[in-house]
Amino acid sequence: CDQAELLRKKLEIYVKGDVIPAPVLAFSSCSLPQKLLQNMETAGYGMPTPVQMQVIPAALNGKSLLVSADTGSGKTASFLIPIISVCANFVLNNFSNHRKPLAVVLTPTRELCIQVEDQAKTLGKGLPFKTALVVGGDPMARQLYRIQQGVELIVGTPGRLIDLLTKHDIDLNDVQIFGLDEVDCMLQRGFRDQVMQIFRALSKPQVLMYSATISQDIEKIASSMATDIITVSIGKPNR
Ligand code: ADP
Ligand code: MG
Repeated sequence: CDQAELLRKKLEIYVKGDVIPAPVLAFSSCSLPQKLLQNMETAGYGMPTPVQMQVIPAALNGKSLLVSADTGSGKTASFLIPIISVCANFVLNNFSNHRKPLAVVLTPTRELCIQVEDQAKTLGKGLPFKTALVVGGDPMARQLYRIQQGVELIVGTPGRLIDLLTKHDIDLNDVQIFGLDEVDCMLQRGFRDQVMQIFRALSKPQVLMYSATISQDIEKIASSMATDIITVSIGKPNR
C-alpha cells in the first residue's frame, strides 16, 4: 500500500482510472505560476481541499476528469486553478498577440456563471488572463465584442453560448479545456443537446466534468467526450 493510497484513504478520496497522480498536500507542490500561488494566498487558500488535492495534479497532467464532491468543498477552484495555469503559460510562451479562447466553462445558471467568472478574475489577477461572461440578460453584442477583443476563458450557460456560436463565427479551435460544472443540473434543465453541440465545436479538449451524483448516464456522456477518464469522488465511493 503506497503513500498515495494511504493519503486517499485518510481523506476519503475515491478514484477510478489509469495513471492517477498522487494527491498533493500543498498548492506549491504543483507547478503553478508564482502569481497564481500569490493570488491564492491572498484569497485565503492556505491548504488545498481534498477535491483540489486530487483534481489539480491530475488536471495539470492533462487528464480528463469526472468529479463529485459535496457543496462548499472547493470544486470551483479545482477547475479554475488548472485552467488559469494552462492559459497563463500558453500566453506567456506564445509570441503571437492574437489571443483566442483556450478554455470554456459551462454552468447551468447565470448566477453560477457570474460566481465562477468572479473567482477566475480574483485568482487570475495580474496574469495574462482574460475572461468573458456569456449569459442571458446581457446584450449579446457586448459579449461578442469582448470575445473578439481576445479572452482566454469563456464562462457561460449552454443556451447563450449556442446562440452566440450559431449566429456568429467564434473561433474555439484553440480551446484546450472544457469545464462542465453541475452537469447533472444542466441535464435536468434540458441542456443536453446544447452541451453536446458545444463539445463538437471544440477540437478534442481535456474535459473537467462535475456532478453531484455520478449516474451511468453521466459516465456515458463523460466517456463519449474523452478517453481515459479519471473519476474522483470525495467522501463517498459511489455517488
Ligand atoms: P463548491 O464545491 O460547492 O463548488 P466552491 O468552489 O464555491 O464550492 O467553494 C466554497 C468556498 O470555499 C468558496 O468561498 C471558496 O472561495 C472557498 N475555498 C475554495 N478552496 C479553498 C481553499 N483551498 N482554502 C480555503 N477556502 C477555499
Ligand atoms: Mg460549485
